[in-house]
Amino acid sequence: MKKGHNLSKSEVVEQIPLACSDELAAVEFLETQRWGNTPACVHCGSVDVYKMMDAKTGERSKRYLWRCRDCKQQFTVRIGTVYEESRIELRHWCYAFWRACTSKKGVSALEIKRHCQISYKSALFLMNRIRFAMAPDDYRPQLTGTVECDEVYIGPRKPRFRGASGPGRSTSKTPVFCAVERQGELRRRVVADVTAATLQAAIREEVDRRARIMTDEYSAYRGLKKTWEGDHETVCHRTNEYARGDVHVNTAESSHALVKRGIVGIYHNVSREYLHRYLWHFDFLWNNRQLNDGERTAMVIRSAEGKRLMYREPAA
Ligand SMILES: [Zn+2]
Repeated sequence: MKKGHNLSKSEVVEQIPLACSDELAAVEFLETQRWGNTPACVHCGSVDVYKMMDAKTGERSKRYLWRCRDCKQQFTVRIGTVYEESRIELRHWCYAFWRACTSKKGVSALEIKRHCQISYKSALFLMNRIRFAMAPDDYRPQLTGTVECDEVYIGPRKPRFRGASGPGRSTSKTPVFCAVERQGELRRRVVADVTAATLQAAIREEVDRRARIMTDEYSAYRGLKKTWEGDHETVCHRTNEYARGDVHVNTAESSHALVKRGIVGIYHNVSREYLHRYLWHFDFLWNNRQLNDGERTAMVIRSAEGKRLMYREPAA
């Protein structure tokens, strides 16, 4: 893959305001993000390409087309990205990328609709694809070192019990499993239930079996030790024990708090079916919190390339 040098982080911050308000600036911003100084044909990879100009006005063609001298095909910066199949102006994409990467608790489609003056449907289309660009790669190394594992319920009401579902138990909250490396990466996923089988399977998938695991005393984590090479230590919340030396799940819990506030405050509520997309967004923000706003935005714009083909709308 040919990737030119990208704008430095301060340049992203400087150029974003203009890219959010002017279509040509947005196109050129995204072109620089994608190709740096050497734009390349999206069909054959050739760098022998040129901008197509409007003969009458002498300005760039209306659709901001490029043409390749080698394969003779035309292309735009949209091709092969999550914004390919949309007619939404790229300045709105820039605005949404920026807001999604800089707002601590995320940004709702309603807000994008209002600020960009686009339809709710368009705003939703745009945000879903941006969240998809934030999704982690399928092939990622397991977490290592000291890893906190915890489960949390996301949703409007509190169920009275945790554990398997049964009559009278509220199912309006969605259980989510979380594993977070101390001083490292965090991963969350929606789980079907919080039984031992489910949670321990999730741990085995996400965490290297030599890692030192910390959980609370919840019974679903019992017995993990038998099949685990690393240590498994627990804190007993029931007896008001929240930390014993460095044994705690406070990192996981403070990250849950952020998601809960975001889901309730920004999105009001999210159905179980779509929750994983919002988790991609929260996890991305958490995992890249040491970057500045410009770096985070540039990162998501780069991930938007090549993800288009993998995007699938879930069946309605
Ligand atoms: Zn070509």
